[in-house]
Amino acid sequence: MEVSSKECVSSDEYYEEDINHLNNNQNHQLSSSKPHDNVVHELLECPVCTNSMYPPLHQCTYGHTLCSACKARMHNRCPTCREELGDIRCLALEKVAESLELPCKYSSLGCPEIFPYYSKLMHESQCNFRPYNCPYAGTECSVVGDIPFLLTQLRDDHKVDMQNGCTFNHRYVKSNPCEVENATWMLIVFCCFGQYFCYHFEAFQLGMAPVYMAFLRFMGDEIEARNYSYRDIGGNGRKLTWEGSPRGIRDSHRMVRDSHDGLIIQRNIALFFSGGERKELKLQVTGRIWKEQNPDARVCIPNLSS
Ligand SMILES: [Zn+2]
Ligand SMILES: [Zn+2]
Ligand SMILES: [Zn+2]
Ligand SMILES: [Zn+2]
Repeated sequence: MEVSSKECVSSDEYYEEDINHLNNNQNHQLSSSKPHDNVVHELLECPVCTNSMYPPLHQCTYGHTLCSACKARMHNRCPTCREELGDIRCLALEKVAESLELPCKYSSLGCPEIFPYYSKLMHESQCNFRPYNCPYAGTECSVVGDIPFLLTQLRDDHKVDMQNGCTFNHRYVKSNPCEVENATWMLIVFCCFGQYFCYHFEAFQLGMAPVYMAFLRFMGDEIEARNYSYRDIGGNGRKLTWEGSPRGIRDSHRMVRDSHDGLIIQRNIALFFSGGERKELKLQVTGRIWKEQNPDARVCIPNLSS
């Protein structure tokens, strides 16, 4: 199996219906107090791509508006009247947008915040209620959702192994270890402490040499992930230990891998751990997840012994 170089692409499609529904509701509510907000909001929708427009807003000489991204694609023709587009900013509409306040687009998922038009986008990119990307590592998966939804998706669509308990024991065997592998990876989901953890094991090229890496991601936000620790051990009479906090799944598996935040075993060490005959590579990664009483007092003890 191949590790795709692309990360999960965030897509809002799954929630679009909810959000539209919600926006409609809110627009109704708003319309009783501020009837113009609704109309202005419609004006701020790009007629070409229907996304909300942010400065600089453009218009043709007849006043048809469009967003910067669409303007760049239109070869200087207004998409509405086909006249020459020129380079006219629509400052009046930009100013009007400044006076708008809108709810976060994840309000249906629990976010109570209301923001001025121009800071809304910034908030939404960081909102704690925004859906998560699917944590599956092997292929590009654009599914987004909350944790229960993603768990169902991992189990049913990706056929990921789900296990209960806070210990793991994973064996990796490769019969021809000298063959340069492009990438091997696997994912198991562990459920413990009422939370879910993604155990990743990957073989990949680091520079010229293959390495093996085991790491954990917490199915939730980074801040909550810090309440947990885990320890990975690669063995066969020898031990290589890694101890740390799992990362949240807001960080892609590729991001965690590239920051080397986990147990990394060089191939030479891996072969040594396998018995030294270099005919077969046998790694056993065992580990445990625990809950920290006091996360700030945690110590990390990387440990290599034989
Ligand atoms: Zn547009
Ligand atoms: Zn026009
Ligand atoms: Zn929000
Ligand atoms: Zn997926």
